[in-house]
Order: sequence, then structure tokens, then C-alpha cells
Amino acid sequence: MFDVLHAPLVFQRVMQEARSHGRRIALVPTMGALHEGHLALVDLARKLADTVAVSIFVNPTQFGPHEDLARYPRDLESDVKQVQGRGADLVFAPEPESMYPHGEETRVRVGPLAAPLCGAFRPGHFEGVATVVGKLFALSGPCTAIFGRKDYQQLLIVKRMAQDLFFPVTIAAHPIVREQDGMAMSSRNRYLSAEDRQRAVGVPRSLHLAHEAFQRGERRPQVLAALCQSELERTTDRIDYAELVDPDRLTPLLSCDFERALLAVAAHVGMTRLIDNVILGEDPAPLARLM
Ligand code: AMP
Repeated sequence: MFDVLHAPLVFQRVMQEARSHGRRIALVPTMGALHEGHLALVDLARKLADTVAVSIFVNPTQFGPHEDLARYPRDLESDVKQVQGRGADLVFAPEPESMYPHGEETRVRVGPLAAPLCGAFRPGHFEGVATVVGKLFALSGPCTAIFGRKDYQQLLIVKRMAQDLFFPVTIAAHPIVREQDGMAMSSRNRYLSAEDRQRAVGVPRSLHLAHEAFQRGERRPQVLAALCQSELERTTDRIDYAELVDPDRLTPLLSCDFERALLAVAAHVGMTRLIDNVILGEDPAPLARLM
């Protein structure tokens, strides 16, 4: 029977009960304001496990003081309907006070994977993420947890945390789900005005241009990054970064001698910060459906 739970210890008991009946649990952690990108993760979870739990929690500890915590979109009723429609078994939607009963006394420290890219612009963000994901793992004891490649750095950090802290969970990664025009789906896309939404396509287009050059044989990291940057300069209001890095360690790629490279970008359009990425040498072109 489908359920919506709010109390962490009740969620923990229900998950323990499910495991005691031999059920494999898949967890899909989200911050709500769900879209097809999230629902694709739920579909994958459904294939991988017997019990699918979706957490919906706008985690305050991963937002910086000047970020969008207060205005982050929240729509629990519609979220619950959507995940129920996709065959999830349970939604866990706690209040911040119940997830942090002693404030944030205990926090997961993350290593060098959190230093570059978004980590450089959002101090403390990934520690907030790792801490809340650790709590969700401890509450639900999942066999599998599903994360999207849209938040590529987060995915690597969560994988590393699960290894280092010996959480008995397999992290499954889902490819980026895009709109028809190539924009990566995101809850934050709701902030964009119609005009900004049009400019925002510059973000996937910037990745696409570098991807095309890579396909034509271009390997110079500075050239690939510059192609991406100039499109972002043309279309967005401010660039946080547009970098070519090693897809496993997130260290800068400096030579032309690579098989795969992560091209990751973050840029602001109006009041909205957008992130996107592509793995050159592995992923299809971001705007493939338009070609
Ligand atoms: P969020 O609610 O934004 O914290 O995202 C929850 C999970 O959904 C994270 O693992 C995200 O990477 C994933 N996700 C969000 N948008 C997309 C997308 N467009 N494609 C794939 N995964 C996504």
C-alpha cells in the first residue's frame, strides 16, 4: 500500500520491516518539485528493487546563506501523485527539525572531489549533501540508491562516501534527461522567465558545440573549453565555470591525450544558476534530438 511518511524513525521502522521480508529497497533522494528527470530515476528504481522509496526533502544544510532555500519550489501534493503514478511504494517527506534534531552537530566531511567545479562556488554544499544522504541511507538501508548524472560531481562524491563509510549500497547513475530543445530538466528551470528560458538553451548548446568539435577530432582541452565558454558568454549572464576534467577524479585535463573527458558548466541566467555536463567520448550530443 502506498504511504507518505514524515517521521524519520517511522520511515526507518517501515524500511526495516520491508527488509525483514526479504525485500530489496531502492532509494531515490530528491528535493521535490519533481519533473520527468526525477521520474526516470523512479522508473529505474522500480526495475532494480522490490520496494521503491522516494525522499522529498529540501535540505537546508546544502544551501549557502545567499542561495535559494526560501524560494526553492515546493509542491508535495503534486509530487506524491506523480511518484505514486510511477509505481513508487513510499514517499518520505520529513521536516528539517526532525532530520536535524540536534542541529547539525555531526557532519560528513568530504575530500578533494568536492574542491573543484561547484565545490569552489558553493562552500559547504557537498558536505551538506553527503550528510543528508548518509542520514537517508542509515534510515532506509537501501540495496540501491539512484542518482542523476545531471549532478555529476554529487554522484561521484556520494559514491565515494558510500565506499569510504562502508554503506552496503550500490549507487546507480541515470543519464541526464533533457527537454526537447536540449535543456537538462531541473526544478530550477521553473524560475526562468520565457525570455530567460530561451537564452538558457545556450547552456546545452555550449556543450554541444564542444561535443561536435570533439567528434571532428579536436582534443586540445583549452580549445574545447573555449568553444563552450564563448557560447555561454554569448547567451548567459555570468559563468561560474566551464571546465574539462578527468571524469573520475575531476582534476583538470591539461594534455590532448585522453579517451574520455567531463565537460562541466555552471552559469547564471537571470536569477537562476544552471548546471549541465557531457562526457566527451561517451555521451551522445546534448542537442542530438534537434540534429
Ligand atoms: P534534485 O531534486 O534536484 O536534488 O535531484 C534529485 C535527483 O534527481 C538527483 O540525483 C539529480 O541528479 C536527479 N536529477 C535531477 N534532474 C535530472 C535530470 N534532468 N536528469 C537526470 N537526473 C536528474
